[in-house]
Amino acid sequence: MNLFRPNIQRMTPYVPGEQPGIGERVIKINTNENPYPPSPAAMKVLREIDGEQFRRYPQPTAQAFRVAAGAALGYDADWILPGNGSDDLLTMIFRACTEPGRAAAYPMPTYTLYRTLAGIQDAEVIEVPFDDDFNLPADALAAAGAPLTLVANPNAPSGTLFTPDELEALAGRVKGLMVVDEAYVDFAESSAIDLPRRCPNVIVLRTLSKGYSMAGLRLGFGLARPEILTGLMTVKDSYNVDVVACAVGAAAIADQAYKNECAAKVRSSRAALAGQLEAMGFAVWPSQANFLLVRPTTVGAREIYEGLKKRGILIRYFQQPRLEDKLRISIGTDQDNAQLVRAIREILSSVDK
Ligand code: PMP
Repeated sequence: MNLFRPNIQRMTPYVPGEQPGIGERVIKINTNENPYPPSPAAMKVLREIDGEQFRRYPQPTAQAFRVAAGAALGYDADWILPGNGSDDLLTMIFRACTEPGRAAAYPMPTYTLYRTLAGIQDAEVIEVPFDDDFNLPADALAAAGAPLTLVANPNAPSGTLFTPDELEALAGRVKGLMVVDEAYVDFAESSAIDLPRRCPNVIVLRTLSKGYSMAGLRLGFGLARPEILTGLMTVKDSYNVDVVACAVGAAAIADQAYKNECAAKVRSSRAALAGQLEAMGFAVWPSQANFLLVRPTTVGAREIYEGLKKRGILIRYFQQPRLEDKLRISIGTDQDNAQLVRAIREILSSVDK
């Protein structure tokens, strides 16, 4: 019995990283969560939420969060559209922009959800290969002429960053909407935050999942001209941000100082870990995110992934073209990173013998 549309039957679902059970003792550096707790100011708001707020539906555009995010980033509230994680914004964008005959273009390898969302729409994808240094393939993306172009900045899983100038130049060359997916930008040295003001076809996506340590809250947002956001609102779920995410998220984004402090710790651990892995013979791509893409040279990537798993350390191994010889490691606390380095050393020396 075929209950679903033919394109849905053909699809393979997006595969998220493993989430061990609560209380399971593992070092979890496989899904790019922040190792530090969320803002104390945000947790205080959570504790003070009144049950009366649950009785009613939430405000449909999470206005309190829009105001707080706008104030934190220097935009008017009507340039912000919140969602249930930035994945929700991506869903709205694919719903609104793609269908059979209206393709999505993006460089590869990148965030694999783009392909899944195109599949749901039965839209064609134009996957432009990155070179080995993950430079922006601007000519090929512009030549694709797609109604939707996506660039993750920094890119995942490479961690590599593009300059605001090269993104702005690309926005002027693509045919339709250009998404700059900045899920990891809180750990980077530059961003495309000013582009929506200058480029009428750009939407920047942000999330509270990484920099703000709130992946479990599910809150992200798009930043674009109000005309673009009004269009997306026609396809969004009515109550896509609940009262808790709205109130707690507003306090979290207002606390930029705390977020910046945690991000600085992650950046410093990132530099230290990159140095240690290089010293052990790994190729390490220059990351501006809270993870490292690395390629082991003496032992297979899968072997290291499995050896670490046996030792209670979860990292990410992608069985897909261009990535099967590499590993993605989220930056943990310095203690997590030290245990990781010790375990890798053990695996390398057990293979040497
Ligand atoms: N964009 C990229 C590039 C990501 O890696 C992720 C996290 N998996 C997201 C967007 C979505 O993040 P969230 O829905 O938690 O905001």
